[in-house]
This record gives sequence, C-alpha cells and structure tokens, in this order.
Amino acid sequence: MSGSFDVAVVGGGPAGASLATFLAREHGVGPGRVVILDKARFPREKPCAGAISSWGLRALRDVDVHVDVPCVEMRGVRVLDGDNVQTTHMSDLGVVVRRSDFDHALLRGAERDGARVREGEGLVGLTRGADGWTLRTSAGADMVARVVVAADGAGSVTRRLLGLGEPHRKGHLYVLETGERPEDAGPRGDLCDFDLAPNGAGIEGYYWDFPTTIAGTRAVSRGIYHANLSRGREPKPALATSLRERGLDIASVRLKPFPTRPFVAGSQTGGDGWLLVGEACGIDATTGEGIAQAILMARIAARHVAAAIRSGALDHAAYGRELRASRVGRHLLQSAWLCPHVYGPRGGVFRRYLTRSPYACASGARWYKGEPLGFGAHARLAIGLGAALATISLRRPTSARA
Ligand SMILES: Cc1cc2nc3c(=O)[nH]c(=O)nc-3n(C[C@H](O)[C@H](O)[C@H](O)COP(=O)(O)OP(=O)(O)OC[C@H]3O[C@@H](n4cnc5c(N)ncnc54)[C@H](O)[C@@H]3O)c2cc1C
Repeated sequence: MSGSFDVAVVGGGPAGASLATFLAREHGVGPGRVVILDKARFPREKPCAGAISSWGLRALRDVDVHVDVPCVEMRGVRVLDGDNVQTTHMSDLGVVVRRSDFDHALLRGAERDGARVREGEGLVGLTRGADGWTLRTSAGADMVARVVVAADGAGSVTRRLLGLGEPHRKGHLYVLETGERPEDAGPRGDLCDFDLAPNGAGIEGYYWDFPTTIAGTRAVSRGIYHANLSRGREPKPALATSLRERGLDIASVRLKPFPTRPFVAGSQTGGDGWLLVGEACGIDATTGEGIAQAILMARIAARHVAAAIRSGALDHAAYGRELRASRVGRHLLQSAWLCPHVYGPRGGVFRRYLTRSPYACASGARWYKGEPLGFGAHARLAIGLGAALATISLRRPTSARA
C-alpha cells in the first residue's frame, strides 16, 4: 500500500496524535491529508509513570478533546528525603493514566478527526526527491509527503535517517508497578512522592511513588530517574535501596533501563521539510517528564505545518524560534538550566531551598502546571535562594589555617 500526503507524522504517541488533532481542529486540515505511521499496534504498552500535567490536558481541552480513560487525579506532591517528609504541597497537578489507554484514545481521536493511521508499520527509509519525501515502511510500502514530522520518541529512527546527532548525554529511567503497601502514605492519599535520597548515592535525579490504577485496582508506579549529567553511573543500586526501604525486593521484578532525550539549549527543532516534536526533540531534563510537553510542542508545530500546507514551504526556523520563545520552550530551557544546579555537585543548597521553602514548593507546582510565575515570583525565588546560599557559606566552619 502506498499513498501521497501533505504531512507524514512518524509516531502515534502523544506528540504525533495531538499534532494531527491540532491540525484538524485548530487549522481545518481536512481528512486524508495527514498520515500517522507507527511501528506498534495500539493499544501498545509504553513504559511510563503516566503523570500528565494539567497544562497538557488544558491544551487538549481548548480544542474540545477530553481523553476519557481511567485515571487517578494528582492532588499534590510530597518531597521526601528517605523517611523524612520535607514538604507536602496540595495542588491539582493533573492526572496519572495508563499510557496504553491514554495514547490509544488520543490516536483514535486523531483518526476520527481525519488522519490516516497506519499501525504496525515502522519507518525504515527516508529519501528526499523533487515531490518531497519518500518514506519506506517496514511493510515494504513507500509513501510520499511534503512535510515529515518526527514524533517517534526517545529512540527516534527519523532523527537517525535525517542524519541528526544525539545530545552528549541521555537520562535513564527504570519503572515498575506494584500494589499499594502500608508504607505508601503519599500515593494512598493521591499524592505523588518524590524521594531525593538517591542523590546521596550520586544519582542525579529522584526516586518516585505515584498513585495509579491498573484494571480498576489502585496500584503504585515506582521508579528512578537519573539525569546522567556525569555519565556512567548506574541507578539500579539506588533503586534497589529505595525499594528495600519500602519492603520490596528488586530481584523479584524484571527491569529494563529506558533512555530519555533532554531538551537543551542547542536542541535541533527542524530543517528543510522536517520538524521534531515531543521526545524526538527533547523533554524536561530535571523531571524526565514529557507527555504534556509533547502535546504543547505539537500545538506549536501544527501552526507551522498548517502554514506549510497552505504556502507550500515549511518555515522550520520560525517553528524553532516560536518554540523557544513559548512558555513550554522557556519551561524546557529553564529545566535544562536547573538540572545541573539541582543535581550537580553543589545541588544540595538548591535542593534544600526548593524542597523546604513552602513558597518555592508552591512555585514549583505552578511551574509544573504551566502557570506564569512572573517577575515578582522569580525575584522572590532568587532572593530566597541567595539567602539560603549565604546562610550555608556563613555556617561553613573556618579552616584551622585561616
Ligand atoms: C520509565 C519512564 C517513565 C516516564 N514517566 C513519565 C511521567 O510520569 N510523565 C511524563 O510526562 N513523562 C514521563 N516519561 C516520558 C514520556 O514517556 C515521554 O516523554 C512521552 O512518551 C513522549 O511522547 P512522544 O509522543 O514524543 O513519544 P512516545 O510516546 O515515545 O511515542 C513515540 C511513538 O513512535 C513510535 N515509533 C518509534 N519508532 C518508530 C518508527 N521507526 N516508525 C514508526 N513509529 C515509530 C513508537 O511506537 C511510539 O508509539 C517517562 C518515560 C519513561 C521511559
């Protein structure tokens, strides 16, 4: 089977499916002009904790898309340091979903809105000709499209076929799910727990316990995120420790490491006839999260793809500029800046301030939800952090020689 389309979207996850949805609902791109190609058949398993910021859900609601799947509402967050609860902050942050349900519902919605969906067919070849791109699929079919959107996630084959390099480091994640345990006070109260204790073992990230639901039964998604700044450290031993503290034996679960591609200052966003969206472009370096970010990026990309359909030319540089200047782009860049400050060798002061100051915690929750912080909030955070740094240096013991 082959075909000719205005746009070929490689990957039917949140980035690809919402891009097609925004094209149809915000830009009136008619049926059959967009094809979504995914190597998997949906519903497909996607290893993920499934926490989606209300920011991403709001963007979908703006175009009257309500993804109605089983979920747990996140009512707040607790920041832990091992057994000690540093902060509890109550706020409606979004929902935790099963990715197999959520992604399937979003993709079927894009299909109802007119996108052609080809599942079980991966992209294996990409060539540029006079009529645009020819995409070769794993089913041996060729299709032609004027614009290619890479939305194929952390292991993006499209990136490789376009000859793009990878960031100098990728994050690592391990995830598992278990039933609720007596130790799970946070998740039982619909709170997401972030435990920073693994920092003490050199992990540049956190251990998490999130409430979730599996086939109608309450469960807990657990895992570890390692930003991998200094590269080469394996987060599994720290995960084993965190699980042991919760009465769980790591040897009883099968675990696989998953990479994440961070969005950083020099991240590529597009080129002649192609754009990158979602994790194929990059995700939040500090939290390792990317579902809401994928949806928000897709909304911006849709504007530029729609303009390309109308004019025949894709202004990829304009997409890159708009993305970086947008709230989600600034959020991703702030996160890339924050990551080494929070998890790096001198991150202790940052972490202490961000986790113990109620104001910093509340600001963090607003930031997570995509609410504007404004100049006043940034100034207050900078002053608070400066004071925390000054207190630490004043308390530092003077050396015997001084
Ligand atoms: C363990 C783990 C936990 C996470 N937890 C969270 C969390 O709680 N909250 C959060 O916001 N983010 C989380 N993330 C990150 C989140 O999963 C991703 O950022 C998000 O899925 C990005 O969406 P996407 O649409 O860009 O890519 P994906 O969801 O990865 O979708 C890409 C799609 O492309 C398809 N594909 C791949 N190769 C090809 C090919 N050659 N041809 C055609 N199709 C192809 C895949 O089958 C897939 O369906 C987590 C990630 C991991 C690994």
